[in-house]
Amino acid sequence: MGILEVKNVNKRFGGLQALGDVNLSVVENSCHAIIGPNGAGKSTLLNCLVGKLIPDTGSVMFDGQSVLGRTPYQINQMGISRVFQTPEIFGDLTVIENMMIPCFAKRDGSFRMHAYARSNQERDVIEKAEIMLEDVNMLDKRDMHAASMSRGDKRRLEIAMCLVQEPRLLLLDEPTAGMARADTNNTIDLLKRIKDERNITIAIIEHDMHVVFSLAERITVLAQGTPLVEDTPANIKGHPKVREAYLGE
Ligand code: ADP
Ligand code: MG
Repeated sequence: MGILEVKNVNKRFGGLQALGDVNLSVVENSCHAIIGPNGAGKSTLLNCLVGKLIPDTGSVMFDGQSVLGRTPYQINQMGISRVFQTPEIFGDLTVIENMMIPCFAKRDGSFRMHAYARSNQERDVIEKAEIMLEDVNMLDKRDMHAASMSRGDKRRLEIAMCLVQEPRLLLLDEPTAGMARADTNNTIDLLKRIKDERNITIAIIEHDMHVVFSLAERITVLAQGTPLVEDTPANIKGHPKVREAYLGE
């Protein structure tokens, strides 16, 4: 049994079957990549795991408990944190203020107005955020406005905003999209390290095959809303159906 078990999940948008009988099992403390062409349903699947979308049918179990019927905040409190495909930081807040928001969100189970992070100087929360920033090598950017950071640093901040919640499962939707190669390699190193040191399970959607093959222990290939194959990276590389459907050969 995986820490995350997705069974027969279906999701329609009007006439479009975005997900059709998706099954996915993610083993605890592993890194599982989900790949597939644009429009394959990868982000839709992730949205179904975190309560942003509700599947039409099927089940999603995290650590033996159903996530369906729970709000995104409740699912977050269960131990699932997520980095979205588009950056979700607050540009007008400083780095440390951004880091405080997910702490309050997890603790209180609701979204605090971002002014709250600025006005509420809770010592223990600030300390926790600072320790996390130091761990991802961003403490020197503590008081910078998030908007003025490089794209790579913004994405690193987003990952740190997840990690400060001490999740058991980290979900990442194309975390290295648009990153320079050096930032991509830093992100690979960071994710490898947190998986080993913090006992975190990672499920990652990623287009960059260098990232996928550097991190993943299992890969699920999604095509037109349905898993085409799930296997080890070595087997995925040589799989004729994958080469045809995904790698365009
Ligand atoms: P991927 O992340 O793999 O690129 P998505 O999950 O974003 O794919 O989208 C899968 C399909 O569902 C696409 O055809 C997309 O246009 C459609 N889709 C996604 N979200 C919605 C929505 N909220 N309403 C209608 N169609 C959607
Ligand atoms: Mg997507």
